[in-house]
Amino acid sequence: MKTCSYRGAMPRFKNIEGLFCGNDEPEARYTLTPCASLLCPYCYPSNHWQKSQPWPVIDFASSSKYQFVNGYITYLNCPATCKTSNIIYAMTCPCGHYDYVDSTTQTLADAMTYHRKHGNRIIFEKLIGSPLFSGSLLDPYEKEQETANKMRLYQHSARCPIALRSFLECNPNYWCFIPMLLHEALAENILYTRTSNYSTAELYDFIPMIAIDNQRVENYLSHIPLSPVSYAFSYQQRQKQRLFFESIVPFSTNEQSLPYSPLHLYKVALIVVLPDDCSMILRYILQSLFIVHGEPKLNMICPLGGDPEKRYGRAYDLVWCAGLNHSLLTMPRSNQD
Ligand SMILES: [Zn+2]
Ligand SMILES: [Zn+2]
Repeated sequence: MKTCSYRGAMPRFKNIEGLFCGNDEPEARYTLTPCASLLCPYCYPSNHWQKSQPWPVIDFASSSKYQFVNGYITYLNCPATCKTSNIIYAMTCPCGHYDYVDSTTQTLADAMTYHRKHGNRIIFEKLIGSPLFSGSLLDPYEKEQETANKMRLYQHSARCPIALRSFLECNPNYWCFIPMLLHEALAENILYTRTSNYSTAELYDFIPMIAIDNQRVENYLSHIPLSPVSYAFSYQQRQKQRLFFESIVPFSTNEQSLPYSPLHLYKVALIVVLPDDCSMILRYILQSLFIVHGEPKLNMICPLGGDPEKRYGRAYDLVWCAGLNHSLLTMPRSNQD
């Protein structure tokens, strides 16, 4: 693409440069600049004030090139803003071990809105074990959600300790769905029974007894995923889970109000601006070339075909809560890193 001139890009040496660089090193010549709209949530991420977004969603300062996790570097081929359409872009998990490539005829801002919607929804659903807005009779986005649910991209962020920690800092009422190490849960239970008016035996009966009054709350409670081996929920967590469901049940069919504050889960980089008249097939071919070279572990296809899980392994650790330490909750952010 470095030999083409369109959308403000010019070849380095007219009529001389070929498809291959030869002795000339690639140059970082173009940048992604903010669209300058004060209303743009991507130039000014809405969650930054909560310190829950420690990484810039778009790093404009280093937007002229992008390095994949496997080390492959690409150079932006045209000047662009977050409102430029017809693009190929990359996403890197803040854990730094997983990336993903995709393309769209829309803008980077549109793509980020889509990923934010499904990424946060799937975190919510994986934590509580029930679908969002399960009361909806007819969901026009059902097919879209089914496709998103299978994507390694969202499966990773819903179980990545770094991404989850940011979600939890933004939504601390979800900590009760993060299982604790068994000995920590037992220690918390002992402390809790000492300071509460209920005996241990009563506590076992207490939670189901209250929940039984509300069929929907009981239904939600019964769908909470089982903890991994050596992990468990404490009594206090189980009580908080019940209170959580009691608070969201009245709103669970209202699609206008989400029961969490969504945030951007990945760092995003624009890597190619395509010509305005680029066909879908050409777009996919170019995107596939980046998959071949960048080997992004979260795409659903591999450079040589086959199953990405066989090549790159599962998109997350089965003991996903291992990196989420409840005791860090009370520590200031600077001590956690
Ligand atoms: Zn913008
Ligand atoms: Zn990650």
